[in-house]
Amino acid sequence: MTKPRTYKTKAIILKQVPLGEADKILTLYTPYMGKLRAVAKGVRKPRSKLSGHVEPLTHAALMLAQGRNLDIVTQSQTIDSFIYLRQDLHLTSSAIYLAELTDCFTVENEEDPTLFQLLLHSLHRLSEGMCSETILRLYEIRLLENLGYRPEIRKCVYCGTLTPSPCYFSPSGGGLLCLKCRHKESLAHPISPDALKIMQILQETNPYTHEELQFPKGVARELEHILRSYISYLLERQLKSTSFLDILKQSEVDRVVQKL
Ligand SMILES: [Zn+2]
Repeated sequence: MTKPRTYKTKAIILKQVPLGEADKILTLYTPYMGKLRAVAKGVRKPRSKLSGHVEPLTHAALMLAQGRNLDIVTQSQTIDSFIYLRQDLHLTSSAIYLAELTDCFTVENEEDPTLFQLLLHSLHRLSEGMCSETILRLYEIRLLENLGYRPEIRKCVYCGTLTPSPCYFSPSGGGLLCLKCRHKESLAHPISPDALKIMQILQETNPYTHEELQFPKGVARELEHILRSYISYLLERQLKSTSFLDILKQSEVDRVVQKL
């Protein structure tokens, strides 16, 4: 379908980079056009009508006009700026991580309304103060599923042994390995029965439930490690925002240790 000369869309602003003196290039995630890059002209000037409505992690209603290379944002109205989320450094960095994950796994102009809804929902939940670990893991698992990278977490990917024990997760194998098969892949992390159970629940049930699920700290760390290693294997790199999340987590640990 050819795009009209001007068009409206809702979008979540994933990121922005400066362009020239006064402009910015925005990366938008839209429900029906997928990822989109567009120019916000003059947005860095003090009296720009756009500024404040195109900040990263804003849900906005935009009007765009076709440009020669990139389309141009002509209007933007904030629907939700997730104000609570912006007041907390840990929540902000969690949300930036979700945005970066979405940006890295999606391609331009490929619609995925399900993923859009899930991202929007996750930002709302973070903004409402839900446990960020649960929101992040749920989003990772659902994004992987939606984009065709669903890991096999019911049986060994080689011999088919159901829920092997002991059990390993292999990023390159795309799922579980049993003790006998673990050497068939160069990298395999042990996964505890508790972490596996939670991963199965997150994968197999409605993504809009189970947000209340709270995992014990050790299991949360294990799941984060396993999913992160799978994601970086697929992307062939680490996401930038993960290092900031790690620094924040470490400073929380330091603060607790200091209090002891
Ligand atoms: Zn096996």
